[in-house]
Amino acid sequence: MNNTHVAVWESCLKIIKDNVSLQAYRTWFDPIIPVKLENSVLTIQVPSHFFYEWLEENYITLLKKVIHKELGSEGRLEYSIIMENNSTNSTPYTVKLPALNKKSLKNAPVTMPLSVGENQIRNPFIIPGLKKIHVESNLNPAYSFDNFIEGDCNRLARASGFAVANKPGGTAFNPLLIYGGVGLGKTHLAHAIGIEIKNQFPNKTVLYVGSEKFAHQFIDALGNHTTNDFIHFYQMIDVLIIDDVQFFSGKEKTQDVFFHIFNHLHQNGKQIILTSDKPPVEMQNMEQRLLSRFKWGLSADLSTPDLETRIAILEKKMYGNGIELPREVVEYLAYSINTNVREMEGALNTLLAQASLNRKAITLDLAKQMVDKFVKNTAREVSIEYIQKIVCDYFDMPIEMLKSKTRKREVVQARQIAMYFSKKMTKSSLANIGAHCGGKDHATVLHACRTVVNLSETDKQFRAYLEDLEKKLTIQ
Ligand code: ADP
Ligand code: MG
Repeated sequence: MNNTHVAVWESCLKIIKDNVSLQAYRTWFDPIIPVKLENSVLTIQVPSHFFYEWLEENYITLLKKVIHKELGSEGRLEYSIIMENNSTNSTPYTVKLPALNKKSLKNAPVTMPLSVGENQIRNPFIIPGLKKIHVESNLNPAYSFDNFIEGDCNRLARASGFAVANKPGGTAFNPLLIYGGVGLGKTHLAHAIGIEIKNQFPNKTVLYVGSEKFAHQFIDALGNHTTNDFIHFYQMIDVLIIDDVQFFSGKEKTQDVFFHIFNHLHQNGKQIILTSDKPPVEMQNMEQRLLSRFKWGLSADLSTPDLETRIAILEKKMYGNGIELPREVVEYLAYSINTNVREMEGALNTLLAQASLNRKAITLDLAKQMVDKFVKNTAREVSIEYIQKIVCDYFDMPIEMLKSKTRKREVVQARQIAMYFSKKMTKSSLANIGAHCGGKDHATVLHACRTVVNLSETDKQFRAYLEDLEKKLTIQ
């Protein structure tokens, strides 16, 4: 049988699942794909090099046990890694890394290539025996891990941030570069890592600084002839967090000084955390040597949170502020503002302010009016999720049914109607609509749209459904 590797890996996963936390399982084991099984060698594909290192450092014992249990003492594991492509060619290629064979098992634990050994270079600025100068960290306590809601959109970034916080400078994630669009939580996560490090290692000097501020300080230092002090100050930081490094683009001198600070910190096993609005490959006007440093560690992205995560974020903010809002209002905000967390929070705050100023109860109508005003700049369309929700509410059916593969008549009908409105009211492609409605292909969506049109012409009752729904979906 040629799918034995799948079966073997599944048995391994069953044991692994019982031995690691759910979060760890999702982050580190879900993405693994078994590739083949040959001569007691199971090959698994992992998404990146750091992923492989992480498994080797943290789960080697467990992996060894399960492989031996499933394949006997001859059993071995090999990794196939999808390389990040730096060129324009977008097809991933794989390399094989011999791993977990008997030899390397005996040599465990595997050391990470970028971790720093004992022979650290002394910083000439710090006189041995003298206490370090106190540095204000500039961390905002509200931006903690506790307040950072986890979702698919941020799982990797959050997990690696947490790993860095537990072992600053001691993981392969150095630098840790968090990138993503505006308002998706980069600054929040960067603070969270700093706060957690401060909690666990109160003696470490942690510094958060925006790159704009860094650049200004540097220019001031140039003007005052104090560049040496500037450099020395930054070189004595244990954990340096620089927010929005894309701001350095085109600023050659600032890049130059940062390059030297970066090298010094990195060589001394100090942790560097960076955020940026784009991944290193897309950064323009940035020196190659700096970009290559950025790629040394891990780049983890934050993407747009899904609906559940957006609702959870709103609930967390309300809870934090001791506010309660009707569920339908929370859902509405989360449904209608779906690209940017900051904007969604802004809408929540405006809504609260409006309500208290005008002494009005916060109702769905008020929320609708406010969102219309508030989000006017971002061309807004109803989302597929919103359409699904309205359709399901109307037919009193759980949304999971609609997204399932069920072929029950009522469900098929609701699904077709949701597809029809998604086609009509959003700019989504047929394929994308299909993917949201139980993994259907574009032909199925097209067929659904035709069926709905035909039925509305022949079936009065059906037409009435559509008219009701259309009213509900059109935001006044
Ligand atoms: P960025 O730096 O990426 O532009 P921020 O970190 O400033 O974004 O985040 C914008 C707002 O959204 C902040 O108030 C932050 O607390 C909130 N936010 C973003 N993501 C999350 C999350 N996963 N959980 C809780 N709050 C979040
Ligand atoms: Mg930010």
